[in-house]
Amino acid sequence: MCRPALDRLARLFLVAVAVASAVGTLNAETLLISGPTMGTTYHVKLVGVATGDEAAIRAEFEAVLADVDQRLSTYRQDSEVSRFNRAPAGNWFAVSPATAEVVSAALEVSRQTGGALDVTVGPLVRLWHFGPNAISEIKSTAEIAPPDDATLQAARELVGYEKLAVRIDPPALRKRIDGLEIDLSAVGEGDAIDRVTAAITKRGIKNYLVELGGEVRTGGLGPNGTPWRVAVARPLVERHEMQTAVPLSNAALATSGDYRRFFEQGGHRYSHVIDPSTGRPVNHALASATVAADECMTADAWATALLVLGPQRGYDCAVEQGIAALLVSRDAGAFVTQETPAWRNRFSTAASSSPAGPRIRSP
Ligand code: FAD
Repeated sequence: MCRPALDRLARLFLVAVAVASAVGTLNAETLLISGPTMGTTYHVKLVGVATGDEAAIRAEFEAVLADVDQRLSTYRQDSEVSRFNRAPAGNWFAVSPATAEVVSAALEVSRQTGGALDVTVGPLVRLWHFGPNAISEIKSTAEIAPPDDATLQAARELVGYEKLAVRIDPPALRKRIDGLEIDLSAVGEGDAIDRVTAAITKRGIKNYLVELGGEVRTGGLGPNGTPWRVAVARPLVERHEMQTAVPLSNAALATSGDYRRFFEQGGHRYSHVIDPSTGRPVNHALASATVAADECMTADAWATALLVLGPQRGYDCAVEQGIAALLVSRDAGAFVTQETPAWRNRFSTAASSSPAGPRIRSP
């Protein structure tokens, strides 16, 4: 059944926080600000910031998140993206500079991954019962019918990143065909984290952790004066275990997986990550892709793209593009992890608790 992503993301963060504080007592004043956003939650830890400043800082963060929601959400009819999605093809549709920026960055990752990440995937997301029309109430899986081939083909014709154009100045989007719809859920959380991070650093705060929907970005050191250690969850459905933990300073980490938002039917799992080349939910052994990058939107975009590409094509593409990625695949009841060279360089094997080497089996 479709599962709320919320519990996974909150737990990932709790593991991250536990790991960050478990290595020593919290010996610096730390301000924790959290709340709901984008159908999930956000948490920010600011080291060395007086709790007296909380109200003003919280208000600033929530204004940043409200702006992202107002621009990028497909879950609200009045957002820039939803209004663009209803607009006809052919004309430039004016958007905010920040929206043009995130679409432009997403299109670049589309080009680098042969369209594995494709923000025009909206019609397919909806066809497979995910996104704003997700199956909210619990239904028997028998009621969730995968689309027939003709319906699938019709939706596929509305998808293709090359049918979307973006202009930075003046900022605008243009669709080449009617019915094209963009869905920025694969990159919006990362973009929001980068914008909250910008608000933090503008205040001169150097040691912080920002988590939203399970994606994380940190600056400087944790409250105990050592690098933040962030956990990556093992891609399990029913229980929560840590796959590995890595030291993360002045960098971002994002994970995309097929084990939280999905439905099962006829013994087959249909996840919310869609392969644009088939129009169907990804169907391979790769269960999760975690990417580290300087910016969170980049990590978020690449994590989804690698999940679409699958274990070998994803690994090869990440190596070719110098992406720091940890891929966890299912193999005969066990998990096989692959770390790209850029991952191993960034987290030198000694520091990360997952063994090095191209394919390591674990129970
Ligand atoms: P990711 O792997 O990061 O992204 C997967 C999502 O991206 C899919 O759900 C689909 O929408 C899309 N996608 C699937 N395949 C592809 C592909 N090949 N290329 C590109 N994109 C693809 N959720 C709610 O339940 N309620 C809300 O009110 C809500 N508001 C939101 C507002 C904003 C601004 C954003 C950005 C998202 C919002 N969401 C909301 C969605 C939710 O926050 C997450 O974005 C969603 O669950 C995907 O995040 P993820 O990390 O789980 O998966």
